Parts: sequence; structure tokens; C-alpha cells
Amino acid sequence: MRTANRIANLPPYLFAEIDRKVGLKRAQGIDVISLGIGDPDRPTPERIVEAMGRAIHVPKNHQYPSYYGSQAYREACSGWMKRRFDVDVDPNTETLALIGSKEGIAHAFLAFVDPGDVTLVPGCGYPVYYTGGILAGGETHWMPMNEGNGFLADFESTPKDILARAKMMFLSYPNNPTSAIANEEYFDRAIAFAKANDILIIHDNAYSEIGYDGYRAPSFLQRPGAKDVAIEFFSTSKAYNMTGWRVAFACGNAAAIKALGTVKSNIDSGVFTAVQDAAIEAFGGPQSEIDALCAMYQKRRDLVMDALGKIGIEAAVPKATIYVWAKVPDGYTSAEFATHILEKANVVVPAGSAYGPDGEGFIRISLTTPDDRLAEAIERIKVSL
Ligand SMILES: *Cc1c(COP(=O)(O)O)cnc(C)c1O
Repeated sequence: MRTANRIANLPPYLFAEIDRKVGLKRAQGIDVISLGIGDPDRPTPERIVEAMGRAIHVPKNHQYPSYYGSQAYREACSGWMKRRFDVDVDPNTETLALIGSKEGIAHAFLAFVDPGDVTLVPGCGYPVYYTGGILAGGETHWMPMNEGNGFLADFESTPKDILARAKMMFLSYPNNPTSAIANEEYFDRAIAFAKANDILIIHDNAYSEIGYDGYRAPSFLQRPGAKDVAIEFFSTSKAYNMTGWRVAFACGNAAAIKALGTVKSNIDSGVFTAVQDAAIEAFGGPQSEIDALCAMYQKRRDLVMDALGKIGIEAAVPKATIYVWAKVPDGYTSAEFATHILEKANVVVPAGSAYGPDGEGFIRISLTTPDDRLAEAIERIKVSL
């Protein structure tokens, strides 16, 4: 059997070695604490689970779903965009159901990128912005992202010859893994840049609902002219603790939505309609659980910041997302420090370098672990230093 080159071209799974070591430790009965995964530990709100309970008994829902999302789901997405951001998106032409944002990101490459085309990708970011390009035969240009530019990916430094081949650019604020947030001025510059260079922007707003100290993220589509050049992805995953349900949506530029929908109609057959009904409840029902969720993560954030401060590990205080992006102490690379923590403290944290070249020098601490375990993990790290 000969597999396609695109499989061989994928980078080695950076956590494979860590997973192997964790497996060995756990087999010996060692208690390993993982601060690795960005997967909410709290259950989906009951009102959403109940909506699913009702929807699953509707025989019509057992048939093939609409490729693009049910009319009711697309209207719920459009209604949420209006209430939450005062953004108008046409449910029929400017919204599209996704089987999770990850699916939309990967399939966007098939809709917009031919072999040899370039995608502008943040210097550290969600891994599919990079691996999706490999699967589609596209090329990646890493946009510099560092403390100096506030982890706002620098698209303006892209060389002219690369720009001529660039068709698509990913941005994502609030940001995974750096937890940086963007201001309006940055979004406006991105829109002008995309217009000048005929580039589609995909703004991945997976953390739109998770903010602290009163901060709530904007939509990219609130900026003037955004819909001319951009689509934006929103997901139920982090906002409603629904990572397992696989339901999200894209909205914005109608031509781009149509292209992505065309790819999807040839590959998948849409989101299970009962899951769409549950997501209608998520977006359409009372949003009060989100404040409680943010308060819970904010408490964990404060606990982690306090503990890191005491052991001399630097990190900026995140205003959003479920991550603390912490600096690796002198003398270690990201991967070395992550390995040290695993070996000496039995704590898993991903090396920043797993998210792209500009992640070197950092680790990402996820807040999706209960307070007592988080505190214990930091205490163990302290002892190991
Ligand atoms: C979690 C995450 C996603 C994936 O969301 P799904 O809707 O669960 O596929 C996409 N982008 C970023 C930046 C994420 O952190």
C-alpha cells in the first residue's frame, strides 16, 4: 500500500512522544495532571441537552440533514449575530453550518487554495491553519507574531512575490495559543490589506464568548467593509461546553460562503439535524450561563497567574480565551521545558513551538482543569524547578 505524499508531508505529531510517556507513567500508577488540552471540563448547559433530548425523537431528524444547515439553524445563527454584535448576515446566502470550526478551516483550503497558492498563517496558531494547507497542496507563509507586536500577526511584512501568490489569510482574536486580543485599528488594517491584495480573510472567533474583567470580544464583521473580504467562524464548542457535539457556523461574504458550501456538499452531508436543533437552543436561548463560565475561568486564571508569579514564571494576564501563555525560564527551549515538567512534575503542558515557529519560548497552560488540580500542578512545577 502506498499512501499519498500529503500524509508524509504532515509534520510529526508533536505530542506523540509526550502521549507515550504519559501512557507509561499512568500505567505505573503515577498521577499525571494534564494542562494540555483546550477542552472545557464542565458539561453542556442542561437547557441544550434537553433540546437535544426532544430533537432526537423527531423522525424527520433521522434523515439526511441539509448540506448548508437547516433554515431554522441558519436563522438562529443570523439572529445571534444581530443580538450579540449588531451584525447583519443573511441566513440564506451569508451563513453556513459547520461540523465544528475545524472542519470549516480544513475545507476552506479546498475552496480557495490550489496547489502552489500561498496561505498567510499566524506565526503561532491553531495547527489546522498549517496542516490544512499541506493536505490541499498549498504553501504556508508564517506571519510574524511576537511580544513586540502584541501577538498581532504582521501581514504587512509579507514579501511582494509571496503576496502575488497569496489567496487566503487566517486571523484569530481572541487568540489561541497566545490569548492576545485585537483592536479595531488592527482589523481595519487587515481589511484594507485584503482589499489591496485580493485576499480572503478567515477570522476564527472560537473564543468570542470567553472574556475576563468585563471584556467581550467583537466580531470581525462589525468593521466597515469586512464582509467584502472576510468570513468569520463561530463555534458552540468553547462558549457552551459543546466540543463533542461538533457544531459551528461560518458567516460573512456570500461568494466565499457559497464556495465553502460547494466543497462541503461534495464531501459531508451536513450536521445531524437534532444537533442543529440543540445548537439553536444554545444560540437562541438565555445566554446567562456564559457569565458564570467566564467567572469560573477568571478565578482559575487568577489562581494560575498568582502561582506563576510566586515561582518567577512570567505571563501576560489574559483578557480572554482559556489559556495562559507563559514564558519558559532561561536555559530551556519550549520542548525541553515541557519535557522537564512532564518528567519531574508529572504535569503535561504543550510547548509553544507546537503551534508554529513564533511559539518558541513559551508554554500554554489550559484553564480547563478544576481549581485544586490546577493549584497542585503549579505547586509540582515549583518543586521541580
Ligand atoms: C477549539 C478551536 C477551534 C475548533 O473548534 P471546533 O468548533 O470545536 O472545531 C477552532 N479554532 C480555534 C482557534 C480553537 O481554539
